[in-house]
Amino acid sequence: MVKDPVCGMELDERDVRFTSEYQGRTYSFCSLACKKKFDENPGMYLRGMEA
Ligand SMILES: [Zn+2]
Repeated sequence: MVKDPVCGMELDERDVRFTSEYQGRTYSFCSLACKKKFDENPGMYLRGMEA
């Protein structure tokens, strides 16, 4: 499973249709809306995931 950094939803990576690359890593999203939010401000969503 992978986690959508925007809404926190757990996703099956085989089922992911929306992804973005940022700083050499690939992030997965449940929807185009989440992908767009991430693309606008990736740092804001990643800050909470580092812990
Ligand atoms: Zn989402």
